[in-house]
Amino acid sequence: MDSERTGRMFDRGSWGNLSLSHGVREDRHIRAVCRCGATAIIDPSHWISEGAGGQPLSSFEDRLRCIPCGARSVPLEIWYRQTRATYQGAIYIFR
Ligand SMILES: [Zn+2]
Repeated sequence: MDSERTGRMFDRGSWGNLSLSHGVREDRHIRAVCRCGATAIIDPSHWISEGAGGQPLSSFEDRLRCIPCGARSVPLEIWYRQTRATYQGAIYIFR
């Protein structure tokens, strides 16, 4: 595996029924990308600790709210490289 890869690993069109846990590995992170351009790196540890890791990643989109545009669902993607959860001011996460 090329550890230098960056950017999108799986987007909405390619993930199919990928589970939440698929986005939780050392080489990747989960990112919410709203149609308005707002983005946030999501920390899924709370959902994982609830035992929700096997649920489809898409089922968590409705737990997100975009603060800049008010969208009630924000598309999730899996991106290369592990990184800290940041930009959380743009996307509100319902636990
Ligand atoms: Zn938005």
